[in-house]
Amino acid sequence: MDAGGLRAMKDKSYSSFDDFKADIKEFTELCKKKHPNSKEVKKSSVKLVKVVASDLKYIKLCAQCYRNGIKSANSMIELCDPLHLLIWGKTEGFNYWPAKLMSVQGRKANVIYFGEFLNAQVNVEDCLIYTEKRPDIKARIVEYDLFKVALKDAEKYISNIKEKYGFFNYAERIVHINPEKLTEHCDNMIKPIEEPEILTVPPSASEQVDSTQKQNHWNHQLPINFQRKAVYHTQEHRGVI
Ligand SMILES: [Zn+2]
Repeated sequence: MDAGGLRAMKDKSYSSFDDFKADIKEFTELCKKKHPNSKEVKKSSVKLVKVVASDLKYIKLCAQCYRNGIKSANSMIELCDPLHLLIWGKTEGFNYWPAKLMSVQGRKANVIYFGEFLNAQVNVEDCLIYTEKRPDIKARIVEYDLFKVALKDAEKYISNIKEKYGFFNYAERIVHINPEKLTEHCDNMIKPIEEPEILTVPPSASEQVDSTQKQNHWNHQLPINFQRKAVYHTQEHRGVI
């Protein structure tokens, strides 16, 4: 290992993941050279290189998830900024499974499945925005216990979203993710639900209200967006709108 590598390791000043990986590799080679007959050193060196490669992969996916605890339930239920879209992901040959969308490149989505913390590349066509019921409701789930854990963790993730943003919206139907609209998908997941506008009955003619007051009353009562549904509490609506 050269002095530059050692200094970088000591100062934690690597400028790239590859530099760090290269130093670890070099470090293990040095250890093996110093202890050529040690099986333990050889075994530990292989393990270290593998662990570093795996951790770097997760850090590249999302450093915040990694900080929350690599391959743990905590990393799955904690929220990152920006938020990961909650989806049903499907690996070929398996059922739809709750997952967090990490990234999309071309027609491939990178996801981490709840319950098993498995990182996988799946087709964009096999990623659906999260619905309350699973999309393949009739399909048999073989690993049922693990699936229950995954559902539970996905619900914890939803609770955390509700706590932070006030809302969580399930997709009401089957919606495939659109790589061009990932931000929109995330926004829809947490945007306030539009409740039907509740209007009260306009004042009747018998009510002694002058015309200016009536106008003000209705200005106040009219829905902001006329396209939104209006629901009246009584049958005495007089067709003002
Ligand atoms: Zn994350």
